Amino acid sequence: MLTVEQLYNKLKDIRVGNPCCQFTEERCKTFLPVIERIEQLKREKNAIILAHNYVPPQILYGVADHTGDSYGLAKKALESDAEVIVFTAVRFMAETAKIVNPGKMVLDPNPDGGCTLADGITAADVKRLREEFPDHTFVCYINTTAEVKANCDVCVTSSNVYTIMERIETDKIYFLPDRLMGENVKNFLRDKGAGKQVDVYDGTCYVHEEYQPESVDQVRRNFPGVKVLVHPECSPGVVGKADYVGSTSGMLDYVRESDNDSFFLLTECGLTGVLESEFPRKQFVGTCTTCRYMKANSLEHILSTLENPAPSNIIELDPEIQKNALRCVDKMFSYLKN
Ligand code: SF4
Repeated sequence: MLTVEQLYNKLKDIRVGNPCCQFTEERCKTFLPVIERIEQLKREKNAIILAHNYVPPQILYGVADHTGDSYGLAKKALESDAEVIVFTAVRFMAETAKIVNPGKMVLDPNPDGGCTLADGITAADVKRLREEFPDHTFVCYINTTAEVKANCDVCVTSSNVYTIMERIETDKIYFLPDRLMGENVKNFLRDKGAGKQVDVYDGTCYVHEEYQPESVDQVRRNFPGVKVLVHPECSPGVVGKADYVGSTSGMLDYVRESDNDSFFLLTECGLTGVLESEFPRKQFVGTCTTCRYMKANSLEHILSTLENPAPSNIIELDPEIQKNALRCVDKMFSYLKN
């Protein structure tokens, strides 16, 4: 059983910007009763908790069985033999766990957890676009609803978007819904001489679109030698200044394998906390931007969902949508086999 000391050791190096929000031993003590009750329910119900890197640290280090980015967590959901999967992130990620595990109970403790990308496009939009672009392969970012996935050909995540877009056999691709990621992939394919036509939908992540190339210049001036790690949801101007572009798990691996001492992370600030906890001797310059949807997750919501899930906490998918969305997600896994 997790002790206050163990939890405090994991959380104490996370600099949350405001001293009032720092993780003290006293604060960790208040988490323990809820954590213990959640652990008991996990055992009783054969449940696991999957948590995205952006959710509050007391969830990541208090109760999560697996943490990571959307691709890594989708794989964990697929491999799990637990009867119940509690997905602590935002709605589309819990839906993805259900797509790959139709026979299991998937619980979402944060049912109002939207996402400006997933909420910016509907299945009706995709059907209209397919009529407009009949010869295109439709590629959707994982940040989409199950209904949108069901109407697309291939799903991608931030950790595999470049690889899959390069491997797709056709030369006409419609990428949705992230315009900035789409522009970044277009630049990547152009630099590789891939000769593909990529049309892009006009959605954005409200967190990542805020970052400016000038911030990178300023941080490089203030922290000579810093490595700049950028999420592909950022603008091409920011991506063009990066030492590394990839998912949150990719950034974690980059830091683990790097001899460098300092890193500037252009992504939601939750990842900075994870890295500060995992690598207390390295220096991280983060952003102060948080995703309001991810940060709406709490230990209390997880507990009440495990104890007595409301209908809105239980992911249910229409069987036809589930089947077609699974075809789209399976296609992603098939592109990554070799
Ligand atoms: S950080 Fe952006 S892409 Fe991720 S869940 Fe929040 S709004 Fe969506």
